[in-house]
Amino acid sequence: MSHDFDTIKVHGGYNPERHNNAISTPIYQTTAFALGDSYRADRLFSFSEDDPIYTRLSNPTVDVLEKRLTALHGAAGTIALASGMAAVSYALLNAAGSGGRILATARLYGGTVDSFASIFPDIGLEVDIVANPDDTDEFRQGLRPDTRAIFIESVSNPFAAISDVEKIADIAHAHKIPLIVDNTLATPYLFNPFEHGADVVVYSATKGLSGHGNVIAGTVTESGGFDYGNGNFPHFERPLWFLRDAGGNKRNILQVFPAVPFTGRLRAVHLNYLGAALSPFDAYLALLGLETLSERVAKQVSNARAVIRYLEASPHVKWVRHPDAAGNPYKPLADKYFPKGAGAVLAFGFNGTEEQKRAFLAATKIFGYHANIGDARSLIINPSETTHVELTYEQRDIVGLSTDTVRLSLGLESPDDLTADLEQAFEAALR
Ligand SMILES: *Cc1c(COP(=O)(O)O)cnc(C)c1O
Repeated sequence: MSHDFDTIKVHGGYNPERHNNAISTPIYQTTAFALGDSYRADRLFSFSEDDPIYTRLSNPTVDVLEKRLTALHGAAGTIALASGMAAVSYALLNAAGSGGRILATARLYGGTVDSFASIFPDIGLEVDIVANPDDTDEFRQGLRPDTRAIFIESVSNPFAAISDVEKIADIAHAHKIPLIVDNTLATPYLFNPFEHGADVVVYSATKGLSGHGNVIAGTVTESGGFDYGNGNFPHFERPLWFLRDAGGNKRNILQVFPAVPFTGRLRAVHLNYLGAALSPFDAYLALLGLETLSERVAKQVSNARAVIRYLEASPHVKWVRHPDAAGNPYKPLADKYFPKGAGAVLAFGFNGTEEQKRAFLAATKIFGYHANIGDARSLIINPSETTHVELTYEQRDIVGLSTDTVRLSLGLESPDDLTADLEQAFEAALR
């Protein structure tokens, strides 16, 4: 029987009868799992029996998180990793293979954009950047014969710019390559990229997915519908000794993981050898957070709307950027893709001097000043000096990041207390 999203987020992927009837997912804090007899070990090591061997590769607590995310997306498979950066970098490495290129934009998480220049060229992965991500034709023009994936974010940080996912997916598929979407800001509650053509979805589960500012985690989920045997992905077809059958014959990824080639390869290759494994305890925290995903995000979206109305009426604010702000250019895309709201991260222009802006940041009492988003607590930050400081001046121009920008990530507090906190901070700073 299939269930609705809100039921899956609480029960998905977990059968208490297989875990001593524990109603809360147990934390399997163990490195290894008894192999039983040596014949069972043969089956486990040749992938003919699917049970955990060693926690770097799989663990029952982590497995529940993976299965729950797969079910929440109506997808084929998920791999959980130790951080969002591991999820992004492994996904890009997995698509590119050796010598492949990635087509992306500069309108991405700061660490992701920075990685394109700081580490990927060292390992032979070149990333091409589309100058204007709102012009989908530029994605078509940016493709090269050896481009192996397009990578975008569904909603951007800090301006909540929205990508036209369906059009970009069509461009990727015409080139026989997957579209990889970082859906961190949206969470699957607001947007399911697979319903709009995405092939792979990555999350920093650190953010709204877990939602309590107490875990670093990442995930990669795949639709199961993309053909990695189409000739563009020879690294999925290369026989590997690690994947040998019981008779010692080498096999390739497509043979061993026909239903989940992308996450299967991530596990067999990237997680196996690069090793960014999620700990069982962190998987438990992420599962706990997921149980309230819809309730949290709905409240955060409504808090964001209240704060946007307040900011729009304030003389201390030059502009507000979020699809719910008046005259926002992304409103039509938000109406199409985000009927429940375009998230709770927004930015505004501080109307005052640099010193006044810094005094304002120092004066908030409820909004916390630290680098995170999607927390139960409301957060405030000056991105051009902190979270986005890695962006070159040219990249800042592309995304429209000015020094008067203040970013908010709305939490779960009372909307009246939040607007009152901003009001008293403006008064303190501009006195
Ligand atoms: C935070 C973030 C990341 C990186 O995630 P970590 O869990 O901090 O490694 C990647 N993408 C987006 C959109 C993010 O917000």
